[in-house]
Amino acid sequence: MKLTSDHIAQFLENLAATFKEQRAYLTELDSAIGDADHGINLDRGFTAVLAKLPTMRDQGINAMLKTTGMTLVSTVGGASGPLYGTAFMRAAGAVGEQTELTAPDLILVMEAALEGIKARGRATTGEKTMIDAIDPGLYALKVAVGSSAELVQALEATSEAMKQGMEATIPMLATKGRASYLGERSIGHQDPGATSSYLMIKTLCDVVKASAQ
Ligand code: ADP
Ligand code: MG
Repeated sequence: MKLTSDHIAQFLENLAATFKEQRAYLTELDSAIGDADHGINLDRGFTAVLAKLPTMRDQGINAMLKTTGMTLVSTVGGASGPLYGTAFMRAAGAVGEQTELTAPDLILVMEAALEGIKARGRATTGEKTMIDAIDPGLYALKVAVGSSAELVQALEATSEAMKQGMEATIPMLATKGRASYLGERSIGHQDPGATSSYLMIKTLCDVVKASAQ
C-alpha cells in the first residue's frame, strides 16, 4: 500500500477535526508552561487549511503540503505556526513530483520536516519541544522500514514511538520557546507541541488504517 493524494486530503480534513476536538486539551497543556494558546493556534491554522482544501484537492501531494505550510505560517501567530509551516513546506519539497509515497519515501519526507523544524527553531532533541516526539518517531519509522514493514505497520510504529516521546517530555527541562522562561518549573508538564505532533501522525495513521480495511 502507498500513500496517495486522497490520503493526504483526508489527513488534512481530519486534522482540522482533531485540532478542534483537542483544542481545549492542547490549550490546557500550554497554560501550564506557556501562554495557553497552542490549541487555539492549531485550530485556527487547520480550519484555514480546511477552507482551502476544495481548491487544492486535485493539485497533488506536493502542492497540498506546500499550501498547508504557507497557510499555517500566515494564520498562526505562535511559534508553532512558523515551525509546522516550515515542516509542511520542507515535506512538500521532499515529495517533489511523486504522486504516491511508500514507507521508505516517508522517511525522507519526515526527515525533511524534522530538519526544517530544527533549523527554524534552532533546537535539538532533549529541549522539551515537538522535536522530542518527532525524532523518536522518525527513528521508529526507519526501524520499521528496515524490517520491511508495510505502510500501516510503519505508521503505527511511528505513532507509538511519538506517543512515548511526547510522554518523555514530562520530566524534561525546557530550554527553548516560552516554556524555557519557567526554568525548573517547566519540569513535570507534558509539552504541548510534542502532543500536537503525536496527534498529527496518529491522525495520518488512522486515515491510512481506515483505507486499508
Ligand atoms: P507560542 O509558544 O508562541 O505560544 P505555541 O503555543 O503554538 O506557540 O507552540 C508552543 C510549542 O512550540 C511548544 O510546546 C514547543 O513544542 C514548540 N516550540 C517552541 N519553541 C520551539 C523551538 N525553538 N523549536 C522547536 N519547537 C519549539
Ligand atoms: Mg503558546
